Amino acid sequence: MTIGIWVLGDQLSASQAALCSSSPEDSRVLLVESNSVLSNRAYHQQKLVLVWSAMRHFAADLGAHGWRVDYHESDCFSDVLPNWLASHQITELRIMEPEDRGFRAAIERLHFPVPLVWLPSNAFLWSREDFAAWASGYKQLRMELFYREGRRRFGVLMQPDGTGLAPLGGQWNYDHDNRKSPPKGLRGPDPLWFQPDGITGAVIEKVRQLNHARQAQGLASLPGDLEPFGWGVSRREALQVLDHFIATRLAGFGPYQDAMVTGEPTLWHALLSPYLNIGLLHPLEVICRLEQAGLELQVPLASLEGVIRQLLGWREYTHGLYHWFGPGYGQLNHFRASQPLPPWFEQLGGSGLACLDTVLGEVRGRGYAHHIQRLMVLANYGLLAGLDPQALTAWFHASFIDGFDWVMQTNVLGMGVYADGGRLASKPYAASGNYIRRMSTYCQNCRYDPKQRSGADACPFNSLYWDFLARHEPELRGNPRMALVLKQLQKLPAEELEAVRHAAAIHRAAMLAPPT
Ligand SMILES: Cc1cc2nc3c(=O)[nH]c(=O)nc-3n(C[C@H](O)[C@H](O)[C@H](O)COP(=O)(O)OP(=O)(O)OC[C@H]3O[C@@H](n4cnc5c(N)ncnc54)[C@H](O)[C@@H]3O)c2cc1C
Ligand code: SF4
Repeated sequence: MTIGIWVLGDQLSASQAALCSSSPEDSRVLLVESNSVLSNRAYHQQKLVLVWSAMRHFAADLGAHGWRVDYHESDCFSDVLPNWLASHQITELRIMEPEDRGFRAAIERLHFPVPLVWLPSNAFLWSREDFAAWASGYKQLRMELFYREGRRRFGVLMQPDGTGLAPLGGQWNYDHDNRKSPPKGLRGPDPLWFQPDGITGAVIEKVRQLNHARQAQGLASLPGDLEPFGWGVSRREALQVLDHFIATRLAGFGPYQDAMVTGEPTLWHALLSPYLNIGLLHPLEVICRLEQAGLELQVPLASLEGVIRQLLGWREYTHGLYHWFGPGYGQLNHFRASQPLPPWFEQLGGSGLACLDTVLGEVRGRGYAHHIQRLMVLANYGLLAGLDPQALTAWFHASFIDGFDWVMQTNVLGMGVYADGGRLASKPYAASGNYIRRMSTYCQNCRYDPKQRSGADACPFNSLYWDFLARHEPELRGNPRMALVLKQLQKLPAEELEAVRHAAAIHRAAMLAPPT
């Protein structure tokens, strides 16, 4: 009996459940690098390089540890599987449950001549069942409660008083210390980038050829720049990025977590999501190393707690919710928004708004923008302009180095554009240009005026913001957290509101295609 283990491109961990369920003597491992992923979605060129190069490195690492590994490049999975199963007399195929629902459905459509065994995923701290058991106890889910439960359950940043109940420092959350505006000249530490090795160089060439072939067929170019490519592609490099983060940015993580600075795309952010999301790092090992190093180095608790909350709180929460909410969540559209994405979203630049063009340019360059750029610039624009939430989610998925369905849905639909009507966020994250002016340096180089809300020079985020509130006032009225801003809306003189909404209409007409 030979067990076949099919390792998917986001499961590149030697301790993933399917590999752990067997041994090198009893099994053969398969990895398939399939171009068919491009038939549903055109991914950022660097995302393809990251995943395919990491798969090739992972296959080599497994081989070095005694596993018999077969690596195939193909146009579709079904070209490879039947022959592989037959030629190695595989009697049972094991796969760790994929995080993205669609992928399991696609695999199930393949029909295997041998029994297929799904192993529950061990890629997160919370299993889907444990999350469901926690969530079923609440009428209204809130991340903060989930995060506190995670701290207690996994014993992270807790008082060493033997009870395991009280948070270190006496407080669960230091977020209010972490919202500083950027002072003049703010610069973050340089991130760690890598020179592509021979394997990565070959994948870069492959993606270049694939892109040329697409263009020759009249298809749009794959999003983003292919080079310079500097992401790590192996566990060794991912661990180096983690060490580099601890050495250079962990202590400063907190204060400027929400700041956005032109020419400083990464500031004190960890740049770990691509590695976590494809399995090169496990979230528990990252949390434990951060906690241990942070305490040894006496890192300010606000910074240490801040980054641990992102991982043990937000990351686990968005993953748990994706499975808890189920497949219907992806289609929600609370505000019935239907505006198609403007062409400069797809082109990753050219809007004429300094904030949007800066962030889009950074996404084009590396497939990366930090959290506040994603939330308060890109998604905020989508919310205010009424962009189709499903089209926006698909755009995020295609444009980002770390995009996966499980993390996109709750972040874009829930947190970003409130398409779920408040199942994740307690209010829409809608903000005017004033927020961007306060938290970034973008407005200094913009042709628009962040202090104006009507007229030709008015910041479009301002006119769209008041227009959004006016359009959705009846639905927002019932939300106590919107009471203050709706009061401000009511205080706007009618003529001024009309002028603001006129400016929003002019922006729409000039910048957005009409809905079909
Ligand atoms: C509209 C929108 C889209 C997003 N799309 C993605 C995505 O496709 N893939 C993705 O991994 N994250 C996504 N996020 C969450 C977050 O923005 C990124 O995880 C983070 O910016 C990655 O950069 P970093 O590693 O430097 O993160 P840091 O800011 O340094 O945070 C550390 C880690 O915490 C985790 N984390 C922080 N916030 C979140 C969150 N809200 N959800 C899940 N994990 C979180 C990430 O693993 C991250 O690596 C999105 C957020 C928004 C608002
Ligand atoms: S003025 Fe408005 S559009 Fe220009 S950068 Fe500032 S927030 Fe963006």
